[in-house]
Amino acid sequence: MIVAIANQKGGVGKTTTAINLASALALRGKSTLLIDLDPQGNSTISFVQRDAAVRSVYETMVDDGCGLSDVIRPSPQENLWIAPARIALAKLEARLVGELDAHFRLKERLDALGGRFSHVVIDCPPALGLLTVNALVAATHLLIPIQSSYFALEGTDDLLETVQRVQTRANPGLDILGVLITMHDRRTSLGRDIQHRIREAFGAKVFRTVISKNVRLEEGPAYRESIFTFAPNSTGAADYYSLCEEVMDRV
Ligand code: ATP
Ligand code: MG
Repeated sequence: MIVAIANQKGGVGKTTTAINLASALALRGKSTLLIDLDPQGNSTISFVQRDAAVRSVYETMVDDGCGLSDVIRPSPQENLWIAPARIALAKLEARLVGELDAHFRLKERLDALGGRFSHVVIDCPPALGLLTVNALVAATHLLIPIQSSYFALEGTDDLLETVQRVQTRANPGLDILGVLITMHDRRTSLGRDIQHRIREAFGAKVFRTVISKNVRLEEGPAYRESIFTFAPNSTGAADYYSLCEEVMDRV
């Protein structure tokens, strides 16, 4: 399974979902690779120290001589590896102008890895540009986090249109694994109303698991830990464990 975590809207819980889903899969004994495709590098620094000297996903995407296996680093957690991002990724689009396979770079690099990882999780940046399209072309599945907020459904049409274009032109096998409601507040009637509207819009595609607001999920990355070691008894850990089960059932 190669799952892209994407939504062009910023701050909806993509990175939090990517790091904790990857960590949960690793805990379940799956050999898991977390690919950070966001120049901000938030997934990267949630597990390893940023190091300008080491090669990153950027180098693999611009340099034919640099494979993913040259940039992958072990995380502090067993079964979990990271393909780090650095800010240079922001120049990828300009750098690959005119390259015929610009949209296929990540897929080519993943194909070259062979079956080293049974599960790959890709954290996308908040944009529908070349990086996210590379993720959608390479992925077998797409997970869309949607923040439980009044503007939750704004912009999802553009995302689904991009998905459709990728499906017709490059990756017919791309499957929408599910829509995940994040940062939910189940105590308010607004929260319940938003959840209702999201379920109305996406039907059975919405995961039964809902990720509640939980401050522990915000704190973990500062200690380079997933929620499962940072706060194993938190609601955040329970929510992401339940998501992992549901993901494994659906695949
Ligand atoms: P970007 O678009 O900038 O990459 P993102 O979609 O990756 O953002 P996150 O970085 O995962 O979003 O989350 C945005 C902020 O909300 C972060 O500070 C994160 O710690 C916090 N956050 C995410 N999920 C939760 C949650 N369930 N409860 C509380 N805070 C959360
Ligand atoms: Mg992010």
